[in-house]
Amino acid sequence: MRDAGELLEIFRASGAYLDGHFRLTSGLHSNAYLQCALVLQEPGRAEALARLLAEKLRKLPGTARPDAVIGPATGGIILAHELARAFGCRAMFMERTPEGFKLRRGFSVKPGEKVIVCEDVITTGGSVRETASALLDSGVEVPAIGVLVDRSAGKAKLPAPYVALLSLEVPVWKPEECPLCREGKPIDTPGSKGLR
Ligand code: ZN
Repeated sequence: MRDAGELLEIFRASGAYLDGHFRLTSGLHSNAYLQCALVLQEPGRAEALARLLAEKLRKLPGTARPDAVIGPATGGIILAHELARAFGCRAMFMERTPEGFKLRRGFSVKPGEKVIVCEDVITTGGSVRETASALLDSGVEVPAIGVLVDRSAGKAKLPAPYVALLSLEVPVWKPEECPLCREGKPIDTPGSKGLR
């Protein structure tokens, strides 16, 4: 297993973790910005990171032979696919609908099946919690939840035991309390530049 410093270096090298002064979509300011899609854009790296997360997941009870890995769209799609490769099972994703998270596109699970739920990054864990709860409500077993990056530093309340490859407590401030603004450091709004 690689240590946290090495993992963070992989995120930095891919541009998925930036240091600076950022205005987040929440309106809060931070000295770090995380965009997990960038660390997953190279298939080989995505596969390797998922293999490391799978090693951690296997230490939790009931995870030896899952029937499927399911993540919420869009953050959980690639990770579910790569975790399913590591476990040798099927990969699916759930989509947000007016009635909550659902399996669509012909995807289905049967009551009693074992499903590992995953997500690329969680802050409060809202989407992954809804995904796991929808599965539990339909009689599916959810032995574990795996996330690539946990920004809650272990504090997210999820309906199954969870492990994270990387746990990061990134500081956020209200604009009027931001020490970087006080220093006069220029601010960046990530995701607002370049081609979409
Ligand atoms: Zn600021």
